[in-house]
This record gives sequence, structure tokens and C-alpha cells, in this order.
Amino acid sequence: MLRFDQAESGANVFNLETLAELDGHIRAIAADRAIEGVVLISAKDRIFHAGADLNALQKLDDAEVRRFIERGQEVFGHLAALETPTVAAIHGACLGGGFEMALACDYRIATADRATKIGLPETKLGILPAWGGSTRLPRLVGVTRALDVILGGKTPAAKQALRQGMIDAIAPRELLLSAALRVLKNGIPPRRRSLLRRVLPDRLLSLLIAPRVRAKILRETRGHYPAIFKASEVILASTRCSVTESLEHERRAVLGLLRSDECKHLLRLFFLGERIRKSDGPKLPPVTRAAVIGAGVMGSGIAQWLSSRGVRVILRDVNPQAVAAGLERIRKLFGDRRVFTEKEARDGFDRIAPTTQDAPFDHVDLVIEAAVEKMAAKKQIFAQLDGQAGNAATLLATNTSALSLAEIAGATKNPGRVVGIHFFNPVHKMQLVEVVAGPRTDPETVRRAAQFARQIGKLPVVVRDSPGFLVNRILVPYLLEAGLLFEDGARPIDIDEAMLDFGMPMGPLRLIDEVGVDIAADVAATLAAKFSDRLRVPEVLAKMVAKGWLGRKSGRGFYVYSGKRKAMPNAELNSLCRSHDAAALDRAELKLRLSLLLVNEAARCVEEKISSGPEMVDFAMVMGTGFAPFRGGPLRYAEAFDMRRAVDELDRLSVVAGPRYVRCDLLEQLAAEGRRFYED
Ligand code: NAD
Repeated sequence: MLRFDQAESGANVFNLETLAELDGHIRAIAADRAIEGVVLISAKDRIFHAGADLNALQKLDDAEVRRFIERGQEVFGHLAALETPTVAAIHGACLGGGFEMALACDYRIATADRATKIGLPETKLGILPAWGGSTRLPRLVGVTRALDVILGGKTPAAKQALRQGMIDAIAPRELLLSAALRVLKNGIPPRRRSLLRRVLPDRLLSLLIAPRVRAKILRETRGHYPAIFKASEVILASTRCSVTESLEHERRAVLGLLRSDECKHLLRLFFLGERIRKSDGPKLPPVTRAAVIGAGVMGSGIAQWLSSRGVRVILRDVNPQAVAAGLERIRKLFGDRRVFTEKEARDGFDRIAPTTQDAPFDHVDLVIEAAVEKMAAKKQIFAQLDGQAGNAATLLATNTSALSLAEIAGATKNPGRVVGIHFFNPVHKMQLVEVVAGPRTDPETVRRAAQFARQIGKLPVVVRDSPGFLVNRILVPYLLEAGLLFEDGARPIDIDEAMLDFGMPMGPLRLIDEVGVDIAADVAATLAAKFSDRLRVPEVLAKMVAKGWLGRKSGRGFYVYSGKRKAMPNAELNSLCRSHDAAALDRAELKLRLSLLLVNEAARCVEEKISSGPEMVDFAMVMGTGFAPFRGGPLRYAEAFDMRRAVDELDRLSVVAGPRYVRCDLLEQLAAEGRRFYED
């Protein structure tokens, strides 16, 4: 039994030393005729093997990286070449190099536990599986499935991995080892190829599908994400060449990709996420009981998420219908059988206690207010919390999107325990949480709020109490500008396509439709009141709200939505308010204008120290809005675009398009001094 248990580390990872250690064991096994079979298993609770040590990888120079890649291929080659039968017994995360090791075994068996995730996420980091994954997976599961897993960076749970052929069997956790031993005892069963693969061999199939695969990648990535393209080339070619040749392709591709800016940005974001995930300072007791005020979209989403993480939740709303609707949303979320078993769903649902009464919150560790976005309502709620949540150790949090935390906290007798915990919509999908520190918030309160966010698996970014905090502050001017450009005659398709080309997951007008035109208009009004020198709310938003065109939820916004059909531009909008001033703007100019607005506002956030520095601003924008991750965030983008050029373009635009484009002083200062946001 090869039992992986890396000392002084939560995870098993591969660096040159651990690879050498594994190689030593493989050689010993090969030399020992008495050994009849080998089980590879992990002693860790939630991790089988996490693959290459990315931290170590970062510190290597080019020659050392080459050696590291070659060594991994070589060791897994030795494993694959063993005559002794090998079984990978997988419990917990089996990712990247960890799964590539399992692919070099003769058989893979995994637990159906929630902790078990199997796959190759490399393309998400701008690289490709290069320890045999891009070579052995297509041979195992066929070229189309391998493309699906590797290009999507997928890490499915055991059941789905079994369906895909990535593993051979599933066993309960207690029986994992005995099941693996039984396989060895009975002999590794031969794998049967599907009829399709027998009729149409992979090497022919890959020739047939190659043009379509390339076209699809180009369409979906718009030429960004070189790793996806490279991985597809290696996988397609792999079925037509020898393992040795294919490994050579993997090596060449990964060494090129590791030098790319895209990869550097993606890796930096990954490491920052890991750093944020780990807590700093002494350990705090976890939140076990919470109360959520408001059972609307956000309140119900927050209650469901907390309860799914084991927290008991009182869910309170003044309106019984809102409670019923909130519970229905919660039931639906728990109903997703890909995520929750029936028992988990039942337990999760039972942990939520709905109420319309003003019952006291005596025994809760935390109250999260997610009621309507009106200052008067929030002040009233917080004033009552002095009595209702009388225990001074109970944290009082608001989920407000843009209202002043100082003003809300002012309604209580103890503003030191009031903090913003700003979740993003939809709560179960968005990992980012802004933890808002007001001028009188106790630093310990901020630390506890951030720790709570980590406890429930979110990524906290601490921000200062300021209009729109960080993400909405940067996003809103961009969304408003898209509305103004539309009013000026630019076509919605051109505006949205321009930003899709830039790398955003969705165009800005489409995003307004998704958020809700009414909600976007409300948040915009709050921000525009604070930044009246440069923010203007396009009239079209109010006109749309008056007509009931609220975006996707009402079936009509900037686009018309009907069932599964592709959304079409809402032609009726043309009659509302449009000139033709911007009709002549091409997509390149639209992209330039919209992206520079993001850059400019992000720079202002650095200037005003809204968060702890440029990397937090970039991280929050990628995690909170999907800002093109391969660009590393708006500030990294400004540097790649060229700081001087950004200032010059903003100066030009402030003349031709108005004061919305007046550049921030910090940007000008850095450009003048030949400096950047990042000193690295
Ligand atoms: P919503 O309108 O869906 O829900 C608000 C709920 O609060 C309603 O059910 C209402 O009955 C209830 N309510 C009103 N007064 C109350 C009171 N005194 N006590 C208890 N319940 C009360 O709103 P939402 O979209 O869920 O937003 C809630 C909060 O979250 C707002 O502050 C909003 O700015 C913020 N937020 C919203 C989003 C979003 O995308 N919707 C994202 C982040 C933050």
C-alpha cells in the first residue's frame, strides 16, 4: 500500500522531493517479485492528492520548471509501466497531478463522498495537464470526453466521474480499501470500449471533429485563453501519435503557457484566493446560530447558504407571503440533487426557523439584515436590535448594497458591533463577500465578520464604508455608461459584443437586465447622488421601469426573453429616447470607452484606499463581476494597456464625451512618474 501522507501539510502535493520519494517506492515495487498488487491511497481526511505544488512551481526558474515537468512525466511513466497491478483508491480531492497519477494506474475506485472531486482544472490556471493527463485521459475515455473535461477544467464528483469513465468504480468510504484489495485479488477487469469507439476509432474521430472543436473554442473564448486552444491541440493530436510523442507535446505546450501573461494573472488570482481563504490571527469560535432579517431574494439566499453550512438560522420577514416565497426558493435550492442528498436537504431545511414575529434574538451569534434597501427601514430595524439582540457579543451585520454603514450603525447604541457583510447575487454561486468596516466598527468585529465569511466558504475582502463600497462603485459607472451609449444611438448588440470581446462574461446591458432594471436604477441613483460631478443616470432606465420592462424577470428589458430562445434586442426601446450621436462608434471605440471607465474608477478606489491595495481591487472585480480573469483585473489591465496611453485616452474622451471620463489623479501621477499600480 502506497499511503500518501505529506508531513506538516494539510494536502499531499508533488514537488521534486515527493516525486523522488514516489519514484523510489515504484522502483522498489518493480524489483520485488513478492508484491502482487499495489493500492495508492491517502491518509488525509479530505484530500487524495492535490497535484503539483504550485507554490514551489512559482519559485522555479525556466530550467527548473522544465526539469519538474519532465520528472513528473518520468515518474508517472514508471508507475504506468509497472507490471504489478495498481489501483488508485480515491477519497477526497484528486486533482491535476493527483488525477494524472491515478490515470497512470490500472484501475481507479473512488468514494461518493462530498469531499471527493476528480479532475483536471489546469486550464483554469492558464496551463494544461502535462504529466500525462492530456495523453492518458483521451486514451481512457475517448477524445470527446477528454476534451470536455480538460477544456472545461472540470472536477466532477465521483458519480459523474464514473459516468464519464474517468474512474472505474465507486465504494463507500469505510470499504474503500477492501474494495481496492478485492479488485487486486480478483484481477483488474478489462475495460470495454463503447461501440461507438470501436466503430469509429479516436484517431479518426479526432480528425473529423478537429475543425469544429477549433471553431467552437474560438467562438467561446474569442481568442483569449490560449491554454484551452493549446490543450485541444495536444488532445486531438494525442490519439494519432505515440505516448512518448504526446508527452513531448504536453511539455512543449505547458512550458510556453507558463510564460504567458494570462497564466501569470490566473495563477496570481488563484494564490490570492488561497491566501484569503486562510484565516489570519487567532482562531475564533464559529458562528452556530444566526438570524436573517428579510426573506427576499437575498435574505432567503443567505439563510439557505448558512444552513447548508450547518448554521441554525431564524429567518424573519414582516410579510408572511415573503416568508412563504423565500422558503420556496430555499426548498428549490436544497432540491438540487447534484449538490445535496435527500437527508442533507431535509436537515438543511430543518435548520431554518421562519417567523413573522419580532421575537428576540437572544442566543444568536450574528444577525444579518437583508431587508429593503431603504435607509429609514434599516435604521428602524437596527434601533430595535439593541433590545432584540441584547447580547453585546452578537454581531450585527447589514447586507446593504450602497447605503452608508455609518448611518445605519448610528441607529444603535453600540456601533462597534455593526459591520457590513455584503453578499452578491446569487448567494449560492458568488464566492465574494465584501466585509464593510464603518468608521466606528470595532476592528475585532471586522475580523469576526471576515472569519465568519471564511467559515461558510466565502472569500472576504475588507472594504471601507463608502458609497457602493468596492465592486458596485466600479461596476455602476460602467453600466450607466452602457445605458448612455445606448441613448446616444449605439446598438445594444454592439455595446455588449464589444465587452464580450474584451473578455467579460456578459455584456453590460445584458447584465442590467439580469440584475433587474429597477434594482440597477436604485443603486445607480444612490451612487449618482454621491458622485454627481461625474455620474449621470440614463433616462432610459426610469422609462423602462415605468413601462414594467424590468429585465429578465419581466421578460423584457434591453432584450426580449422568451423561454429558451435566444434573447433578442428589444426593438420597442428605440422609440423611448435615442439620438444618433454614438451610432457611428465602432466596437473598438465602445470597448475602449467602457473598459477605461472600469480602469478609472478602480484607480479611484486605490487612491481613496477603499480596500487594502490594488490586488484586492483586482481580485474583487474578478470574483464579484467576472471581470476578464485572464487580464488579472482592471488595474493589471491598465498596466498592460499602458498607463500613459490610458491617461491620454481618458483626456481625449473627457473632451469628446464629457466629464464622466475625467481621469483620476492617481492614474495621471503614476503615468507621469513612469510607475505602475504593482511594483513587481
Ligand atoms: P427584496 O425586495 O427581494 O427583499 C426584501 C425583503 O425585506 C422583503 O421580503 C420585505 O418584505 C422584507 N422587509 C422589509 N422590511 C422589513 C422589516 N422591517 N423586517 C423584516 N423584513 C422586512 O430585496 P433583496 O433584493 O433581497 O435585497 C435585500 C437587501 O440586500 C437590500 O439591502 C439590497 O440592497 C441588498 N442586496 C441586494 C442584491 C441583489 O442583487 N438583489 C445584492 C446584494 C445586496
